[in-house]
Amino acid sequence: MNRPDLSQFKCLGCGACCRQDGYVRLKKNEPDIIAAFLNMDIYLFIETFTILTKDRQALSLIEKKNGECIFLTPQGCRINDVKPEQCLEFPFVWKFKDFQKICAWAKKELKKNR
Ligand code: SF4
Repeated sequence: MNRPDLSQFKCLGCGACCRQDGYVRLKKNEPDIIAAFLNMDIYLFIETFTILTKDRQALSLIEKKNGECIFLTPQGCRINDVKPEQCLEFPFVWKFKDFQKICAWAKKELKKNR
């Protein structure tokens, strides 16, 4: 399969990556930052919106029943201003197999280069 030129990546906000299964791992200081953004007590935030990863090394955001991230809304990411580094690193560091099949930017790029 063709691969898009990642140096041209520009998020189109389709939310496809936010609907993927798997952890959204939080860096050490991110629970505090997100809790403050939501004006929530840190312990309540952790209890309400995170789980401990299986390797017990990090907290991850929980998912809705349909598998999408708890913070994905019809208007986009509810915590966009403080979203985790993992989200910001897509599709450079964190990505999933065949992401180019569902990412709106990648699909557009591949169509353009056909
Ligand atoms: S935190 Fe925001 S950008 Fe990251 S997966 Fe959830 S909805 Fe998407």
